[in-house]
Amino acid sequence: MTTLGFVGLGHMGTPMSSRLVDAGLAVRAYDASADARASFADAVPGATVVDSAAASADGADAVLLCLPNSDVVEAVVAELDAARVIVDMSSSEPLRTRALAARLADTGRVLVDAPVSGGVSGARAGTLAVMVGGPDDVVADLEPVLAAMGRPRHVGPVGAGHALKALNNLMSAAHLAASSEAVLVGEEFGLDPAVMLEVVNGSSGRSGSTENKWPNHILPGTYGAGFGIGLMVKDIHIALDLAGSTRVPTRHAAATVALWDDALAALGPGADHTEIARWLREEAS
Ligand code: NAD
Repeated sequence: MTTLGFVGLGHMGTPMSSRLVDAGLAVRAYDASADARASFADAVPGATVVDSAAASADGADAVLLCLPNSDVVEAVVAELDAARVIVDMSSSEPLRTRALAARLADTGRVLVDAPVSGGVSGARAGTLAVMVGGPDDVVADLEPVLAAMGRPRHVGPVGAGHALKALNNLMSAAHLAASSEAVLVGEEFGLDPAVMLEVVNGSSGRSGSTENKWPNHILPGTYGAGFGIGLMVKDIHIALDLAGSTRVPTRHAAATVALWDDALAALGPGADHTEIARWLREEAS
């Protein structure tokens, strides 16, 4: 695979496609937003910016998508008749991904899901965890492409990557909510949040939230992780829906989702997801 289409040039898609260009791959990039296309052209001069999703597939061995959700993915895929292999790197709904793959298979085309974790900083560094679902042969062909963006791991058939990603974000959302409440309680008691985090990060309470989000985005008051709260809430609802299709009791997940729903209603979808800590502090005062 040497020529790739890439649709969705937002917080994640821009640094991810930049890694592909750095790896020597030809990238045909498209975003529905003219502003996003213009900033992308400045940020990644080695890529070719095209003016439709369909044009991104011209001469491409595969088209990669990094879009907000399954609705948008399905709308864009409807324009990609020329693409034989489509790789959905968005955090989409696993059951819809499976159904879409079955529809594409009717015309001899293949859908692979390859959602990512690691945030904007991981996308820039090429260290994303890439959770891949799809047929062995196509996943093997895609390995060098995905490895340019991070660490691909083939986790099962199509849809498996999207299921794992949603469950990962359910855990991540729970850790951030739990650490936000705990740090605020400690602060009201008189503890220094920086000292709390230093100790917790050498203790059993540590998580990606205490090791990364708190010191880099919450304590400095910058809230610039680059992952919108609307996207986080979408992901955890996907996980809760998935849980509902099983017999597993998920009282904790339901409480986590309810808390994040309240934060979304208060902050709006464009707020950074780390602002849940700021919102809880405001609630406390
Ligand atoms: P984003 O909102 O920054 O980017 C999405 C891009 O898609 C935008 O530029 C938008 O203009 C474009 N777009 C929307 N509809 C389109 C259409 N019909 N055709 C073409 N382009 C269209 O979002 P993001 O933060 O880059 O996230 C993208 C995906 O990756 C989401 O599914 C998200 O859940 C997931 N994700 C994000 C992060 C993160 O830290 N930001 C981390 C892991 C996974």
